Amino acid sequence: MSERGHWWQRSIGGRIIVLFLGLLLAVQVASFLALRASLAEHAQRVLPAKLRAGERLLQDLLDRRAQTLINGARLLAADYGFREAVSSNDAETIVSVLANHGARIGATEVALLSIDFKLRASTANQTREFVPVIERLAAQSAASGQASVITLRAGRPYQAVLVPIRAPLVVGWVLMDFPIDAQLATDMQRLSALDLTLISRASSSDAWSVNLSTLDNVSAANLARHAWRDSNGDDATMSSVTTQGEELGVRAKLLSLGREADADAGVRALLSLSVDEAVRLPRDLQLALIAITLLGIVVFAVGSVFTARRVTTPLRGLADAAERLGHGDYATPMRGMQRHDEIGELSQSFERMRNNIAENQAQVLKLAYWDALTGLPNRAQFCEALNRAIVAAPPGGSVAILMLDLNRFKHVNDVLGYRIGDLLLVQVAERLARQVVREGDLVARLSGDEFGVLLRSGDAELALAVARRIEQSFHLPLVLEEHRVDMGAGIGIACWPQHADAGDALLNRAEVAMYAAKGRSNGTLVYDPSVDVASAETLTLIGELRRAVDGDELRLYLQPKLSLETSQLVGAEALVRWQHPQRGMVPPGDFIPFAEQTGFIRALTLWVFEAAVRHSRTLSEEGLELVLSVNLSTHDLLDQDLPQKFEAVLTRRRVSARAFCLEITESAMMDDPQRALATLDRLSAMGFKLSIDDFGTGYSSLAYLKRLPVDELKIDQSFVLNMQADADDATIVRSTIDLAHNLGIAVVAEGVETLQIWNMLRELDCDQAQGFYMGRPMPIAEFLLWSATWSAGRKPQDQGQDQDSAVLH
Ligand code: C2E
Ligand code: CA
Ligand code: CA
Repeated sequence: MSERGHWWQRSIGGRIIVLFLGLLLAVQVASFLALRASLAEHAQRVLPAKLRAGERLLQDLLDRRAQTLINGARLLAADYGFREAVSSNDAETIVSVLANHGARIGATEVALLSIDFKLRASTANQTREFVPVIERLAAQSAASGQASVITLRAGRPYQAVLVPIRAPLVVGWVLMDFPIDAQLATDMQRLSALDLTLISRASSSDAWSVNLSTLDNVSAANLARHAWRDSNGDDATMSSVTTQGEELGVRAKLLSLGREADADAGVRALLSLSVDEAVRLPRDLQLALIAITLLGIVVFAVGSVFTARRVTTPLRGLADAAERLGHGDYATPMRGMQRHDEIGELSQSFERMRNNIAENQAQVLKLAYWDALTGLPNRAQFCEALNRAIVAAPPGGSVAILMLDLNRFKHVNDVLGYRIGDLLLVQVAERLARQVVREGDLVARLSGDEFGVLLRSGDAELALAVARRIEQSFHLPLVLEEHRVDMGAGIGIACWPQHADAGDALLNRAEVAMYAAKGRSNGTLVYDPSVDVASAETLTLIGELRRAVDGDELRLYLQPKLSLETSQLVGAEALVRWQHPQRGMVPPGDFIPFAEQTGFIRALTLWVFEAAVRHSRTLSEEGLELVLSVNLSTHDLLDQDLPQKFEAVLTRRRVSARAFCLEITESAMMDDPQRALATLDRLSAMGFKLSIDDFGTGYSSLAYLKRLPVDELKIDQSFVLNMQADADDATIVRSTIDLAHNLGIAVVAEGVETLQIWNMLRELDCDQAQGFYMGRPMPIAEFLLWSATWSAGRKPQDQGQDQDSAVLH
């Protein structure tokens, strides 16, 4: 049997057929057995009677034979010549007449007895054997005048008769005996259909021997071995003997006693018949039964197959329908709904289900393929259409896509709110769909502020023309309720088959071109492989950076800031490092710009701030109350939630904002001064100190600085590093210090690498210094050691150089 069962267990139809045929066979077998049982019972009643009738027939046959023999003997006794010979006592003539006559009627031996039953003459050589026969015959003839007995002589049964010779008085007796031969058995069988077996033995010490039988030799010998008792005329007597695998019903009849009237010897007739044959079903009945069974099987088979079909065909239909639903075919209606049975009900339920699913499916498809806000196709539909266009493109044809990303959309969202942002997207979508594309092209909203245009048969040239139209359509500002917004977009173009051989790749290429366009603040760019390499690197880097923030690969180093006046440690700048699992320690210059470009910097800044807050606590636990400087970037300043996020961290860690100084570059503020200013005001109000980093590299006027809530100015290291050699740099440093002091702002010089510069700055009245000369950025543990050494009056890097220490203190 296989794991899944027999074939019929796997199908309802099969089960029905097997059940039907099984039931039919069971009924047939049961009726057959019942028939057999009743036949057997009938046989038990009928067979003994048959045997009894046979016994009577046998007696009859024997009597008739005896009569025939007696008649023959009478003829002899009445023969004139014979009587003459008897009275003349002519012995020679007597014997010859006896022999002639006996031969004529088939007697074995013929004898003449005297009137008192003495043997006078005989054809037999051995006359001694006749003595017991004569005794029995004499006893019988005394009553009836003639006699007939069955005797056993020389191991064979004989029928002997005794007839008187009258002249006219009885003058003697004629004795004749005849062998009981096979003819008797044959007659018996012919008349009664019973088998006859004669067995005999002279005395009970001998074994029974078979004299004649209509049975085969082996069966006859088997019967002879049984100890037979005479039926005594009892009707029911029947013994059962099994021989040669066949059961025989047997009845015994005592024909003659043994020697000395031994009842356990002598001659017996055994009448037998086959019980099995009687019980066996008549042949025509058997044939009829087989025919009925076969017919029944055919009828049942046809019926059950039909029934099974009635049940399984609709079930299979339902299964097929379910399969179709599974494969997303919701259009084909169900069959079999007109039936009125359970299957019909099931079909109707299926049909209802199919309709519901079809409706839901349509809904889902709508959600899946259309953008709910703008009503444009969405990214999924765009991709499918792109793939189809590629497949359908004729040889030598081309497909082009444009991808555009709105400039400053996030800004609009943040400043004017999401409702206006949504309005903007809707209007942009309308402009694109109405003014830009031709019949057959497809405009889709790919994501947030990203749109795509599919030119099903277009090359780069056509795409550039469409891009120009898009740019033109953005010339008119959008009117969003009372706001007027200037729109712009970065557009990337990629063409099949030049730039990619599949839809996905083509989309990627267009996206790369789009980002490159935005990065170079160039309106439109056609994809160029050289752009891609850099971009791909950026993407993997961003992925890794995200992992770094989550996976504890970032470290926050501290670089000391010292008071130039007192040489005391007053603060530290927090600088991030990336402990990359493969690349080792990655300097911030290698990933901060990427993080800024992609906006990932926001997450990074938050991490840095959290780490800085932790460091601040550690430091104050060590007794160091320092102001920690944390760098912010443009993105951070445009993030209006930043103050809130910082607030949350401070509250959680129970640290004051006063322990931190936030460093902002000039360029960061220039991007969107109003918004930056708003953020800075809030941060300042919270208690953060603010510092302008890399001062001198940008174009900010000092007048502008006045409007900012700034506490500190960091002169860019490029001026400080060279101020000893370069007079211009020295001048810039000096005037910056003076100016800042005029505005009440403290000045920090970074990039202090030598004692000489330290001293120059001191003379110029600069407030603080930061640089490798005093200390490099280092992990907090090292920073604590450094601090201890420093306050002990020694400069860690130049240990033993007393001259330096002397100057510094
Ligand atoms: P930055 O804000 O101007 O930081 C000062 C940089 O000058 C640091 O480089 C520091 O190691 C280096 N420096 C300090 N003293 C000397 C000196 O005597 N000689 C020289 N040659 N260099 C000195 P670093 O740590 O490699 O950082 C580079 C820039 O990466 C930083 O410039 C900052 O713009 C950015 N950055 C570093 N950490 C962060 C951060 O956590 N957040 C943000 N937004 N930017 C960071
Ligand atoms: Ca800085
Ligand atoms: Ca700096």
